[in-house]
Amino acid sequence: MMRRVLLTAAKIPAIRNLSVRLPPIRRMVDRFVAGETPEAALDAVARIAATGRVATIDHLGEDTTTQAAALAATDANLRLISLIAERGLAEVAELSLKASAIGQALPGGHALAQENAERIIAAAHEAGTRVTIDMEDHTTTDATLALVQELREEFPDTGTVLQAMLHRTPSDAERWAHPGSRIRLCKGAYNEPASVAHTDKRAINASYVACLHRLIDGGAHPMVATHDPALIQAALDLLAEAGRPADSYEFQMLYGIRPTEQQRLADAGHTVRVYVPYGTDWYGYFMRRLAEKPANLALLGRALIGRG
Ligand SMILES: Cc1cc2nc3c(=O)[nH]c(=O)nc-3n(C[C@H](O)[C@H](O)[C@H](O)COP(=O)(O)OP(=O)(O)OC[C@H]3O[C@@H](n4cnc5c(N)ncnc54)[C@H](O)[C@@H]3O)c2cc1C
Repeated sequence: MMRRVLLTAAKIPAIRNLSVRLPPIRRMVDRFVAGETPEAALDAVARIAATGRVATIDHLGEDTTTQAAALAATDANLRLISLIAERGLAEVAELSLKASAIGQALPGGHALAQENAERIIAAAHEAGTRVTIDMEDHTTTDATLALVQELREEFPDTGTVLQAMLHRTPSDAERWAHPGSRIRLCKGAYNEPASVAHTDKRAINASYVACLHRLIDGGAHPMVATHDPALIQAALDLLAEAGRPADSYEFQMLYGIRPTEQQRLADAGHTVRVYVPYGTDWYGYFMRRLAEKPANLALLGRALIGRG
């Protein structure tokens, strides 16, 4: 219930405008967001790399409503890529990109998003890295998968994301499970109706395991994106049963969440990629993180009344 309230509030401009100005909220954001600039994000990536983990960097921003904003988001990603190259971080840092940030939701947006994504991915390749296209709410799944399919014609290592909570995902996993296919599997962070998504935690977890099974069986490169101990253990078991070598899959977790578990997996020889978001447009991302864990709300409440 609280999850739905937070995810709905995240879409209301008046709540957003008030929230981003409150200092206690901004302080809490620092736990989940690596900073406002690409330099700050790359400092975080260098710290992560020093501990044997790798990263995927997200220039925050979504639901772009003008062509100019889509172009600005594209330019921000191009600047990020040149800084990654300058700092010699291409081997440890790839990019995560939202189709809605680069224009997908605008009229005629598919072609615009494709053009912008191609520029970004070509620059990423030139710099020695690559891109994963994030997944947004279920109304965008078909468009995002169509975009990725087109992008993969020229850039086959372009990754994308499937969300275990959606009823459609087991069949998407079947379709996208083939050798070389880089698929991040997550539970899904959006406020979805019961007509398209499981709402019960056990059903979501069962779907997650079934989808992961399909990705592994089909020879995909699964990117196991979860902090859930039961799912991490299930993934370790499935990968071991399939005899998967360590370079044929990875675990992914979010910046600031379960860092000790991230390190435990990395120390055990698994690739662990940390999702590092940065930028000023952090509100939607932050609200999804609050919605995922009720205890975060208690922390926020204490901060707002001055005891945090
Ligand atoms: C690398 C990565 C990329 C992602 N990309 C996408 C995407 O493209 N599209 C999409 O819809 N979703 C994405 N997600 C989010 C995902 O869908 C889930 O909403 C999120 O990961 C929480 O689910 P969980 O599997 O960690 O399980 P949960 O059951 O939510 O969490 C398990 C445990 O992890 C810890 N935890 C989880 N979330 C938090 C939090 N916010 N604050 C503090 N502790 C927490 C808690 O200890 C919790 O008990 C991504 C997640 C990761 C890790």
